Amino acid sequence: MAGTREPGPGRGVDPWDWWRGTDELCRWGGRVHEIWLDDLADDATRRNTRQQRIAALLSHARAGSAFYRRHHRHVAAGCEALTACPPVTRAQLMAHFDEWVTDPQLRRSELEAFVRDPHRIAEPWLGRYAVWTSSGTSGVPGIYVQDPEALAIYAALLTVRFEFGPMVPDPWQLAAGPSRMALVAATGGHFAGVVWWLRQCRLHPALAAHTRVFSILQPLGELVAQLNDWRPAFLGSYPTMLALLAREQRAGRLSLRPRSLWSGGEVLTAADRHDIEEAFGCPVLEDYGASECMQIAFGCRHGCLHLNDDWVVLEPVDAHGQPVPAGQPSHTVLLTNLANRVQPVIRYDLGDSVTMDSAPCACGSRRPTVRVQGRRDDVLLLDAGGAEPLRVLPLAIETVIEEEAGIHRFQLIQTAPDALCLRVDAPGARRRAGAARRAAKALARFLRAQGAGNVKLATEDCAPEINPLSGKLCRIRALPRARCPG
Ligand SMILES: [Zn+2]
Repeated sequence: MAGTREPGPGRGVDPWDWWRGTDELCRWGGRVHEIWLDDLADDATRRNTRQQRIAALLSHARAGSAFYRRHHRHVAAGCEALTACPPVTRAQLMAHFDEWVTDPQLRRSELEAFVRDPHRIAEPWLGRYAVWTSSGTSGVPGIYVQDPEALAIYAALLTVRFEFGPMVPDPWQLAAGPSRMALVAATGGHFAGVVWWLRQCRLHPALAAHTRVFSILQPLGELVAQLNDWRPAFLGSYPTMLALLAREQRAGRLSLRPRSLWSGGEVLTAADRHDIEEAFGCPVLEDYGASECMQIAFGCRHGCLHLNDDWVVLEPVDAHGQPVPAGQPSHTVLLTNLANRVQPVIRYDLGDSVTMDSAPCACGSRRPTVRVQGRRDDVLLLDAGGAEPLRVLPLAIETVIEEEAGIHRFQLIQTAPDALCLRVDAPGARRRAGAARRAAKALARFLRAQGAGNVKLATEDCAPEINPLSGKLCRIRALPRARCPG
């Protein structure tokens, strides 16, 4: 996975991509206009628009999805109140995938075969849908299908809500010459971030010439050399990776002069934001999204996350599903995506703990602000025999164990500076032992490639520990002194 270019677009031009790119640009233009108008509208008009979208989504889901017809059978016919609808989990949706989707041509078995093939990342499914996968900590892998209108809405939200979006380099850069962009991400699988970027490159060849995707799985030294060589003006990654790169920049091994940075996929702590911005001398744009809805909230220059509440409904709830008032952290949050019709996400238990703010943000935006807790495992500091501890990203370890060993419920606990203990969750002692062996083999190979071949790796035949307060599984746990803030 050391290559800078990942499989997908660029290997021969599909003439239909030109048509799809043009079609998406037209849809995007219409949605940008609509989002601008919503930003200018008064509060009553905004509420009305949002309620119309909720009503249209509920009506569409009940008409086209056998799953939702059954799931909402106790909701009065024609009811347009979202809170009257029962929540839903990923396990429920994935168990009834073929009934959940509103296009009968979509079949789970066919999509599973599609996402197993890394050479088909960002390829349009049935000529029009984008498909990506997600594991999450629930242990149930998800397959997400996005229709053309939803994709155009996500792109338009990026354009309008960020000061300048990842797909639209700021005009000053363009005027000054070609701006190079880099995404440092989990590659090799159909993950949302990489599918999104490679899809944009596929549809817009001019963008592809200035964009590269780099894998987080390669040793840090190689990544640093590749980034020094590429010299991106725009760099996007996870906050834990940006923090790691900021250390390299401060140490003088990395010498980038980016104009802006993008952070997503994990929580960005205030301390990391400060370190990253100081090291690179430019702002970090923060993004809060999920595989179920790419654009939930956007970060402003004051470091707040503003909800895209024209296209997303976020309901913080307690452990009993009751609403949690502003100012208090929730147990979980129910997500409704108003943009995607082909696979309706209605009151979906996202699993994140969030706090809605009651005070308006100093930036002047009227969109409500939200703080996201958790959603981030520990960075491991391993004694690999060098002068400095080796830093290993939780997302890299999770990608290796999920993709190479096919295991989603596991826990890796650091027991000493140079020792790790792996627990795997699977039914039956024999299956558990087999899964643990596969995971340990994949992990050992990865650690050797990182230069941490001396680290002792043990397996333990007991269930991963669930946090008794949050009820959630922390998959990577560092030694207490090595834990990252936040
Ligand atoms: Zn703000």
